[in-house]
Amino acid sequence: MRGAIAVVLTALVGATLAALTPAVITPAERAAARAIRAERLTMDVRFLASDLLEGRAPATRGDEIARAYVSARFEGMGLQPGAPGGSWEQPLQLVGITSKAPEAIRFARGGDGVELRFHDDYIAFTGMARPEVRLDAAEVVFVGYGIVAPEHRWDDFKGADLRGKVLLVMNNDPEDDPALFAGKTRLYYGRWDYKYEAAARQGAAGAIIIHTKPSAGYGWQVVQTSWTGEQFRLPAASEEPGLPVAAWATEEACRRIARLGGQDLDALRAAAQKRDFRPVPLGVTLSLALRNEVHGRQTANVIGRLPGSDPALAREAVIYTAHHDHLGVKPGAQEGPDAIYNGALDNASGVAALLAVAEAMTALPERPRRTVLFASVAAEEQGLLGSKYLASNPPVPAGRLAANINLDGVNIWGRTKDVTVVGLGKSNLDDWIRALAAAQGREVVGDQFPDRGMFYRSDQFSMAQIGVPAAYLKAGIRTIGRPAGWGREQQEAFEAKDYHQPSDELRADWDLAGAVEDAQLLFYLGVKVANTTPMPAWRPGDEFEAARKQALAELADR
Ligand SMILES: [Zn+2]
Repeated sequence: MRGAIAVVLTALVGATLAALTPAVITPAERAAARAIRAERLTMDVRFLASDLLEGRAPATRGDEIARAYVSARFEGMGLQPGAPGGSWEQPLQLVGITSKAPEAIRFARGGDGVELRFHDDYIAFTGMARPEVRLDAAEVVFVGYGIVAPEHRWDDFKGADLRGKVLLVMNNDPEDDPALFAGKTRLYYGRWDYKYEAAARQGAAGAIIIHTKPSAGYGWQVVQTSWTGEQFRLPAASEEPGLPVAAWATEEACRRIARLGGQDLDALRAAAQKRDFRPVPLGVTLSLALRNEVHGRQTANVIGRLPGSDPALAREAVIYTAHHDHLGVKPGAQEGPDAIYNGALDNASGVAALLAVAEAMTALPERPRRTVLFASVAAEEQGLLGSKYLASNPPVPAGRLAANINLDGVNIWGRTKDVTVVGLGKSNLDDWIRALAAAQGREVVGDQFPDRGMFYRSDQFSMAQIGVPAAYLKAGIRTIGRPAGWGREQQEAFEAKDYHQPSDELRADWDLAGAVEDAQLLFYLGVKVANTTPMPAWRPGDEFEAARKQALAELADR
């Protein structure tokens, strides 16, 4: 009987989860949420971001220490090992490639040439696990945005033969028409990862992304620090083509390349705003050799598990994620604290919040009905590798993952009247987040920097790709006790000065009161999802809806 009633109620409530009211937070949940405190967050950040861990680059001793710390903390709070096979760690193999790019490269046209200096003008690396890759007088072709998107009736390549060529490609996606590529919001088509994948699918020998600050969402210094030193990838699945030369160049350098080809970069880019754009061969060639050191490396995701209390729902799970890796030590820099990428905000702070949420979850007098998984994932900075691996090897099938809640970078600027939901409008998790924020006396705002494509830049993207509805929060901007605009200014200043720099360190002026409220919200959200029978869902028509349907259908086939 109870089962039958539950079915009727489920049908009535259906997929609308908006019925959640502030009163829905129970006194027991409020009490458990007090485990999330600023001093606990600070403690974990202080350890994880200390120089001792040397920037936590994947497969280093610092990475190992971080993982040991997280699993010890999980064990101490009473979680069970949550990796498939019943251990704390889910090991994953990486291929580490260090490319040695030439100090200078030359673009040639007849007797004329343009020379680019490594680091100052360009960076280059390889997507192939080979000791050497070469370009021999490869033709350079401007390909606009380099996007093929049938649903937008958009194809920048127009069937041109790009095999063996070097594609000069714009970052981002077309922005002017709100009906096309979501206007100013960056889609995956606008991410650098997509550009290289699309070039590889065309059989290109190389791709050079034209860096501009607005189109990248960050300055040239971030490109320099993110793409030097050892780069990691998952061992290539044979069906994925690799890109021999993946490069970035500054806008100024690209102007010179275009001019060498008798073209004006601005005119080329203007032409690329239109559907009828066709690739423009520049009549310019590039020769270069990258010498690569290739090593097999190993790292791991660390997974803790709180088993569900409901016999039926316990086989489903809510999964929290936060990446523990960062960029390691600056190559070639003098030894010393300033060479270490401590990654305090990015993402010792998210791991600290993950641990605090786990502590709150274990402090509940009754365990949630669904299982709750806490995954500290590896190698995010290398292209979401740990979460990609987790998504292809999940502890429970994708269709049984009710939701992903990702933590990457907390609010260090104090309490706010609002909280930012990256990807607002994508799933009905929004309704829950709104109600829970309201219960905290706060409101929800959409991504403050929609042009940056943040939804595709952290581990929730890996989970969304296997269909799991995902929530990713960022700091609000209306900081209590500060003038209007202050919060946004702080975030912009962090992006400009500290993001992916050795200066991302724990500082005495961090105010984690807002981070505590955000983490408490995400704790409540996990509890609600874990205790509510209908699973969250993508909004109809969302880009990840099809993946969800497939994941659910695969369950039915079992
Ligand atoms: Zn990062």
